[in-house]
Order: sequence, then structure tokens, then C-alpha cells
Amino acid sequence: MTTGGGPSRNPRDVLAEVFGFPDFRGLQQQAVDEVMAGRDCLVLMPTGGGKSVCYQVPALARPGTGLVISPLIALMDDQVAALRQLGVNAGALHSEQEADDAARVRSDLMAGRLDILYVSPERLLSPGMLERLGRLTLSVIAIDEAHCISAWGHEFRPEYRELAALPQHFPNVPRIALTATADARTRTDILDALAMPDATVLKASFHRPNLDIAVKPKTSELRQLTGILDRHRGAASIVYCGSRSKTERIARSLAGKGYAALPFHAGLSPVEKRAALMRFRSGEPVVIVATIAFGMGIDRPDVRAVVHLDMPSSPEGYYQQIGRAGRDGELAETVLLYGGDDMARARYWLEQSNAPEAQKRVMSARLEAMIALTETTGCRTQALLSCFGEELSTACGHCDNCRNPVATFDGTVAAQKVLSAIYRTGQRFGAVHVAGVLRGKASDMTSRHGHEKLSVFGIGKDRPEPFWRGVIRQLIARGAIRVTGEYNALALEEGRARPILRGEEQIMLREDATEDLKAAGRASG
Ligand code: ADP
Ligand code: ZN
Repeated sequence: MTTGGGPSRNPRDVLAEVFGFPDFRGLQQQAVDEVMAGRDCLVLMPTGGGKSVCYQVPALARPGTGLVISPLIALMDDQVAALRQLGVNAGALHSEQEADDAARVRSDLMAGRLDILYVSPERLLSPGMLERLGRLTLSVIAIDEAHCISAWGHEFRPEYRELAALPQHFPNVPRIALTATADARTRTDILDALAMPDATVLKASFHRPNLDIAVKPKTSELRQLTGILDRHRGAASIVYCGSRSKTERIARSLAGKGYAALPFHAGLSPVEKRAALMRFRSGEPVVIVATIAFGMGIDRPDVRAVVHLDMPSSPEGYYQQIGRAGRDGELAETVLLYGGDDMARARYWLEQSNAPEAQKRVMSARLEAMIALTETTGCRTQALLSCFGEELSTACGHCDNCRNPVATFDGTVAAQKVLSAIYRTGQRFGAVHVAGVLRGKASDMTSRHGHEKLSVFGIGKDRPEPFWRGVIRQLIARGAIRVTGEYNALALEEGRARPILRGEEQIMLREDATEDLKAAGRASG
């Protein structure tokens, strides 16, 4: 393929001849048109939406070399290999590359032989690189995973900030930024940080009808998890955990039960990481138990299940993670298991964090949106998409709440009983103990602390213990109960708890599904 000064080619011809696609899909045509006309644009598309074509086609159709900035080294090599197979002269420059490989790419680049260069931000900004590129004709500059530029985002890369200088170095080269993160805040951040206020913003729908979304209270984590995985034996699944140690623990437990499970987190050695990625990409059945480090650039199309064992910190992160399921368009299952402790811990860590106040406020708003999402009784898909400013006019019909509409009940009295029990026991005990006191369950602890003599002892005998755990969890979600200290002691959040105790506020609670209650009963009994 030739590069250099010649005239532009017809993008549709490039799409057909190079990629073998008869037509552009969704917003691809518009994105390509913008770039072909020399204008900047920002493309927001869900994972699997077809972002690559938006910059690869203009890179080939316009004269010069296309520059693609990406933070994902592993993915870069894959993309380059795929493009080479299509006859495109592509190359990559990044830090994990052999020296002679890099030298060859550099000389191809400077000779104007490269159609597309993938480059990590560090390499792009390394001494002399921008000057060298300045001597070439560039067809387009693509900034992939552009949400990494947002300091508020969940995948912030400080190096991305430096990309603000691109227009000074390459004033006449159109830029196209791409991301699968869709919220308004990230969007304005990208436009500001890349200094492209006039860019056309193209946003695709983020609705993925093949994703089954379910969110369930955590009752017996491992049992619930294997129940899900068993529905997808022989396929690939991803299990997200909140900590590195937990990924290892869960992977070990699963392996002990005969699952092909592997942990993945940022603390693994490069060799271990690569081995896990190879297994994942091989197409074999595998369960990857990971932190969110297992994320961007994961492109196995046939992941059948994504399970969260801990609550994500934002709807954006959650959406991206579940979006890794079912990229082939076939049905895929996503389940988030959550508990009151998770929410409380997430709030606690945020409070403790040293982040600047303004940033904490944004993070806190996202966390609360995530918590609200877990407790919503309406359509999950609608609730999730509304976090991205997208309105789905009818309920999705396939999330857990759509399939099994949630019953609600007037939980005012139950909430008052829980709050009183917490108060009377001195706001020093965890959920298990408080539920035990309500149930009137005598134990060493209840006798040692004189809790059997309290008026609240046994006032909740009529309901099973999982019921009380559910009420506690929902009061945590509503911010009426705080969880403190290393023993997860429950305490009242005065402002929210008092109106409930005084009967000034009616509390509607969700009836947890009976299967969950039964499972919880088995687990705790
Ligand atoms: P993203 O980067 O948005 O996650 P990709 O660029 O990897 O998505 O594309 C997802 C899949 O869609 C790929 O398998 C790609 O080959 C396919 N695809 C993209 N554009 C088209 C098109 N115009 N026609 C048919 N298939 C396409
Ligand atoms: Zn729904």
C-alpha cells in the first residue's frame, strides 16, 4: 500500500477493499466523513461498536501516515498484526518492544512507508518524536481510550494530559478521539483537555440488548458464583473482585472445584499476566478472576458471563466491565452481587482518600449513582443508560427487574426496629449481631453485653434473619446507617435516621427475591 502525498481515496472503497465490509455501521460513516473533511470529532460508542474503523479507514483513505495513540500495549500489537494480515503496513512503538523491532518501525515511518503507526503516549512524547513526526505527512491523529485523559475518570492516565499540545505540533491534522465511556462529565473533559471545543460529538446508543443484567444481594458468594458459572460451562467468563487478594482466593476456590480459573491483577509478574491473557484469548473455556486491571482492550468476543463479587465504584466502570460480555452479539449474562458492607466500605474509602475535594465530590456522586442502581426496583437497563444521559423509552424486558418485577412493601416499622436496635446496642455491633438481637437469638455476646434485657430484643422474631439483613442493607444504601471501624459496626446517620425513627418518613423497601432469602438462610443457618 502506498502512503505519502497522493490524493484521497474513497473511504467506502477502502472499507470494502481492505476490510471486506460492504457498509459502514451506525455512526462510522459520519465519523469518517468528519475526518475526511479535516474536522475534529469525538466518537462515543460502546465496546464492540466498531470504533477502529472510524480512524483506520480515514488513515488509509487520506494521504500520509495515520497516528493512533493508545495506552494499551497488548492491544496495539494485536491490532498491528490484524492490519498486517489485511495488507496494511502498520507498526507500533511502545516500551515493551525489542530494540531492532522499534528501529525497523522508525525507519519505515521516516521513509513514509507506514500506513498506520500505533504509539503509546510515553513514546509519542519522548524526546525528538514529535519533531520527527512533524517532518511527515499525517493523515489523522486518533486518540483511543480518550476517557483516560479525564482526571475524574476511572482509568486516568496522567500522560494523556500532554496530548493537549498536539494541535500546536500538527495544526492541520484532523483529530478523532474515541471512547466507550459516555457520561457527560468525561465528554466535556475530553473536549477541554484535547483542546478541541469545536469537535463534532458523535454518540451511539449504549443499549446492548443481548446483555442480561441482574443485580442481587450477596448471600453466599461462592455458591451464587458457581451457580452462574455452571450455566456457562465450556465458555469464557470474567469474575471481577474488589481486591487482588480476593481474586487469588476466589480463583483458588474455583480451581479446587474443577473450574479452569485464573487470577488476574496488576500485581502479577508480566509473565503471569501474559500467560493468563494467552489462555483467555485462546478460545478455550476459562474463568478469569480479576481486578479492574483486567479491562481495556480485552477483546474476546464470546465471553458469556461477567460477574461482579464487589460493587464497582461508578456506573461508568460497571458498564464497561459488563460490556466485555457478549461482544459477538449473542446472549450473555451479567450479575452483580452486592452487600451493605460493600457500599459502606466504598463510602468509607472515598471519605478517607487524599484526593482533592472537588474530585471526591464527583467520585462520591458516581458511587451514590452506583448504589442507587443496585437498589432500583425499576428496569436496570433504563436506569443504567440514564446515567449516560440516554433515555430508553420502554423497559428493556430482559433485566432481572423486568423479568421478575420487584415487590415493595411499607418498611417503615421494620426500619424503625432496625434503627432502634442499633441505637440501643450502642452503635458498636455489626449486622449479624443486630439481626440476632432483633430475632431474639441469645448468644455469649448478647448475654455478655446485657442485650437480652433490652426492649428491642426479639422484636423482630416474626421475620427470618435474611429479612433483617436485607432491611439493614437497604438502610445503608439510603444513607440512614453508616458502617464504621474494622468490625463493620453499624451506626446511625443522624440526619437520615431521625425522620425515620420519628415516623416522619415512610420507607418503601424492596422485597428481596425468595430464592435469595432461601440461599441466605442456608448460608447463615
Ligand atoms: P470497538 O473498538 O468499538 O470495541 P471494534 O472496532 O473492535 O470495536 O469492532 C468490533 C467488531 O465489529 C469487530 O469484529 C469488527 O470487525 C466489526 N466491525 C466493525 N465495523 C464493521 C462494519 N462496518 N461492518 C461489519 N463489521 C464491522
Ligand atoms: Zn429491564
